Amino acid sequence: MFLLTFITMYDPLKDPSPGMEKPYPASYWSEHSGPPPSNSGRVIKDMQVDVAIIGSGYTGLSCALHLARDHNIKAHIIEANQTAWGCSGRNAGFILKSTGRKAYSSMISQWGNETAQGIYNEVSEGVETVNQLIADGIECDQQSNGYLRIAHKPSRIAELKAQAKLLRKEFNYQTEILSAGQIRAEYFDSKDAHGAIKFNDCYGINPLKLAWGYQKMAQKLGATIHTNSPVTEWETIANKQVLRTPQGNVTANKVIIATNGYTPNRFHFATNNRTLPVLSQIIVTKPLTEAQIEAANFITDNVVMDTRALKYYFRKLPDNRILFGGRGAISGKDADDPYFANRLLKVLSNSFPAVEELAIDYSWSGWISISLDDLPHIRQADEKGNVAYSLGYCGNGVSFAVQAGKRLAQWTAGQTLPYLPYFNTDLPKFPFAQFRRLGQWGYFHYGKVSDRWF
Ligand SMILES: Cc1cc2nc3c(=O)[nH]c(=O)nc-3n(C[C@H](O)[C@H](O)[C@H](O)COP(=O)(O)OP(=O)(O)OC[C@H]3O[C@@H](n4cnc5c(N)ncnc54)[C@H](O)[C@@H]3O)c2cc1C
Repeated sequence: MFLLTFITMYDPLKDPSPGMEKPYPASYWSEHSGPPPSNSGRVIKDMQVDVAIIGSGYTGLSCALHLARDHNIKAHIIEANQTAWGCSGRNAGFILKSTGRKAYSSMISQWGNETAQGIYNEVSEGVETVNQLIADGIECDQQSNGYLRIAHKPSRIAELKAQAKLLRKEFNYQTEILSAGQIRAEYFDSKDAHGAIKFNDCYGINPLKLAWGYQKMAQKLGATIHTNSPVTEWETIANKQVLRTPQGNVTANKVIIATNGYTPNRFHFATNNRTLPVLSQIIVTKPLTEAQIEAANFITDNVVMDTRALKYYFRKLPDNRILFGGRGAISGKDADDPYFANRLLKVLSNSFPAVEELAIDYSWSGWISISLDDLPHIRQADEKGNVAYSLGYCGNGVSFAVQAGKRLAQWTAGQTLPYLPYFNTDLPKFPFAQFRRLGQWGYFHYGKVSDRWF
């Protein structure tokens, strides 16, 4: 039985700031990525800057990188803890051609084909941007191309076929449909895989190495990164943004909020009550033995997710461990309760009954940012046009956050963003926001029932 010391995690709905000087979580990534690149350390005196970016995940790093590379603007990133300490350093590393949770069928019926095409182009550009940055010299343990979305029940195969048809018809995006037998013979033998749609241009990477790669590129181009400097208060004085950190104020002409699921409640009026931070949990097993790999016929290193409402996702890592993820606790105080890691291990073991003695080596969780309309929003946050945010990737932001950062850089440089719902609508407010967790609890119960019976 896997045991962890019980510690309380930062909870964005309860705590005023993500803290300071918190180390990386004891994740597989933090122990398999080598030493972090250096940065400019804490803010230790008052500073005047042109552009300040709060948060050093993919969004903030990409914004700084693109500002420097494409617009000759040298931004300052202000991060509470370490570079990519939030989701960007602790996710599952799936590069997917999507973001948010809204299906294309629903976008087409709500906004029409042209807007859906614009959104498809935007998420595709996100993947291309990531591909290009990796090709420019980021070593991040890239695995082979392939993302399998698997039907966890035979009744869900029709939905996958409809998805493949829509993608082909609307966007000329070719995917493959795999039968249960093909999955068993060529990928892995799981009792929960009844068919799949395969996306041939998605893949797995080491997410922390990827973030550090962006960091090094941004710094080389002239961006400055300050870590261990939480922004604890924010005032607008005479058209300037004054960000207070424990040892110095940063006064900026423009500010980008790149804090996603780690955004504290009541941080800025434009983000208040507009996201629901939800914990996603990951376990990584001990390396599988040859016998275990053979028992599961676990050939593929493609990334995999299922059709459940409460999704599970997994992949085989380069050293033959299985990374397996799903929903975590509801509140930060329960985040490190071993119950959640052990629950994932049970689901994994049930999916691969032929594999004996699966055991956990690493377990951690992180806050994803759910928006009410299932879309990210990249948006000006004040009337004067001095503040903007990008939030709400709904757990699907490894590639898109980079695109969002690029768009934020264009906004900062005074360019107009495409006319798409991502850019031309505010993050909607949650009604009865103080009951968001209750709603989440209700959704988890609905998901449990629907995943079991449908
Ligand atoms: C377990 C897990 C698995 C996931 N797997 C995938 C996946 O496989 N594929 C995928 O596409 N997406 C995945 N995601 C989601 C993806 O990781 C995120 O969408 C993406 O990393 C968001 O990047 P970001 O830069 O916007 O935010 P983050 O990386 O979360 O960065 C926000 C930063 O803001 C800082 N911050 C917050 N408040 C302050 C403050 N007041 N002052 C200073 N700094 C502050 C935080 O410390 C943090 O470092 C996963 C998420 C989790 C948690």
